[in-house]
Amino acid sequence: MPWTETSRTTAEANQDVPRRVILIGPPGAGKGTQTHTLATHLGVAHISTGDLFRRHVGGRTVLGERAQTFMVRGELVPNEITLATVRNRLAEGDAAGGFLLDGFPRTVEQAVFLQQLLRQSGTGIDAVLEMHVEEDEIVRRLAGRRTCRECGRSWHVEFDPPRAEGSCDACGGALAQRDDDREEAIRRRLDLYEQETRPLLDFFRERGLLVRIDARGPVAEVGERAISAVGTTDHSGRS
Ligand code: ADP
Ligand code: AMP
Repeated sequence: MPWTETSRTTAEANQDVPRRVILIGPPGAGKGTQTHTLATHLGVAHISTGDLFRRHVGGRTVLGERAQTFMVRGELVPNEITLATVRNRLAEGDAAGGFLLDGFPRTVEQAVFLQQLLRQSGTGIDAVLEMHVEEDEIVRRLAGRRTCRECGRSWHVEFDPPRAEGSCDACGGALAQRDDDREEAIRRRLDLYEQETRPLLDFFRERGLLVRIDARGPVAEVGERAISAVGTTDHSGRS
């Protein structure tokens, strides 16, 4: 079940980077698009709860069937499932040296759970990177998003097209539109972001962990901004 993209090479050359980083932003902000670049730069495991759930859905596991009923409606998967999934994934060996979390936490309750979990291993959250994009741009991005069924990489029919239509440049997997990238589910996910996830920004800001970037513009430029923003975080005093 694990799906990670890990590079130790950059980490070895770059010891002074935060190791336990959260990527936060509304659906369609470009989190998934930037995770490979950022996780490689940091030399940590890339963990996306959405990808973990989609793998379960694709594998027709019991967990996948339960998660899917919430995902297709744009609802949050209940904590009973989500927290266990995250706990198990973080216990895998490649996450011991650090991780880039995409899609988790999404609520203050999940953030408190994560803090407590990390405290048990004597670590903590080092930095939280907020990707900011306006809503009209988000809708354009989600409407044209195509996701690789194999590796989970996102492409966009207009803004970030793969070389061969319908096929992932990264792994050659088939691209498809996500079930939850339909108008009704998009609206629900954006509402939930405002209600449940936006309060998390204050939670992390109060703890001195939050850095924000403008996530508009070409993918490569946003990636450079993300790398430079996490480099400015003071991760000496962990939350
Ligand atoms: P998230 O993981 O935050 O939900 P994705 O990374 O899947 O978002 O990006 C959503 C869509 O927007 C994808 O189709 C992706 O190709 C596209 N996209 C990502 N970054 C940019 C960008 N900087 N400019 C234009 N489109 C982008
Ligand atoms: P994402 O790939 O991050 O857009 O997530 C896709 C879907 O997976 C979400 O709309 C939720 O249904 C579910 N999901 C992902 N992460 C979480 C989470 N932290 N808590 C609850 N549900 C989640």
